[in-house]
Amino acid sequence: MSWKYYGNEAAVALLRSQVARGWVRQAYLFCGPSGVGRRTLALQLAQAVSCLHPPHPGEFCSRCRPCKLLAEMRHPDLEVVESESRSGTLRVEQVRELQHRLSLTPYEGRYRIALILRCEEANLNAQNALLKTLEEPPQRVILLLTAENSESLLPTIVSRCEVLHLRAMPPKALARVLVECEQCDPIVAAQIARLAAGRPGEALRLLHEPERRIALLHTVEEHLHLLQSSMLNRFALAERLSRTLSKAEIVLLLEHWITFWRDVLLSVYQDQEELTYSEFRPQIVEIAAQTGEKRVLQVLHDLRQVLEATQSNVNLRLAFEVLFLNLPHIFLDRSPESAVREATQRE
Ligand SMILES: [Zn+2]
Repeated sequence: MSWKYYGNEAAVALLRSQVARGWVRQAYLFCGPSGVGRRTLALQLAQAVSCLHPPHPGEFCSRCRPCKLLAEMRHPDLEVVESESRSGTLRVEQVRELQHRLSLTPYEGRYRIALILRCEEANLNAQNALLKTLEEPPQRVILLLTAENSESLLPTIVSRCEVLHLRAMPPKALARVLVECEQCDPIVAAQIARLAAGRPGEALRLLHEPERRIALLHTVEEHLHLLQSSMLNRFALAERLSRTLSKAEIVLLLEHWITFWRDVLLSVYQDQEELTYSEFRPQIVEIAAQTGEKRVLQVLHDLRQVLEATQSNVNLRLAFEVLFLNLPHIFLDRSPESAVREATQRE
């Protein structure tokens, strides 16, 4: 088995051909939404340059010691750097420590490989230190950076990297891949592809970690409680979300809420075939009946505005408060817990 990556064929082809020709660059930046598979592709590049028995030029065997250890991120020549907590900051001390380790010769491989995850979490000092490493990289070092998008990094960092923009796949194409390559049931595949919004990495996690799917359903359940709750409780939630979630987690949460309200809109239009959260069909139908097209479009507009606001330095608590103030108040006959319970029992 060699490169195994769904979608983004051009990026894979480029990396494969660079390895095959021995034209591997010193730094790569894998950009794309979380869950698209940035780290997976970076690690496969690391395998391709380190494999002891490549079956063809540019390929890797997945079986030799370096291939296995890299896949598990346990290779002694692999340095992984990331912020300590998910909402955290990548600090300058971490980059300096990395610089020091990169200056040592590789233990067993041809290269020392640094995998620097979620570089957008690096503060300015850390980014400047990173830039220094990129400007004068030690011999036999490859730097693999991942980030949400290149705009969040210093342009001077981006210009020193081979930039690979990884994109989500159309959900239908991803569902086909899950059926063909992962032997997934077609109905489950279609649902997972929609839940993952076409991001292959997230889809594979949802497929292999059922508890992750259940957690997603709980996200919807919580949203349904929010729609039924008083202003006081809504404001308490606004405070809690803005205090406890990282920016990336807030983005993900808002994306799930948008997907949910898109389901409500489909239900308003009497099109319920393609519901992402089909477990909540009865509640979605009820909400559609109590709101109507104009109101649902307004909710989607408001949600997108908060999503945009997360990209700037707005007060997120205030943004959530305004959003929750305008969300309709819903009365549900059927409790959302039953939907989650039924889905859990199926697992
Ligand atoms: Zn190998």
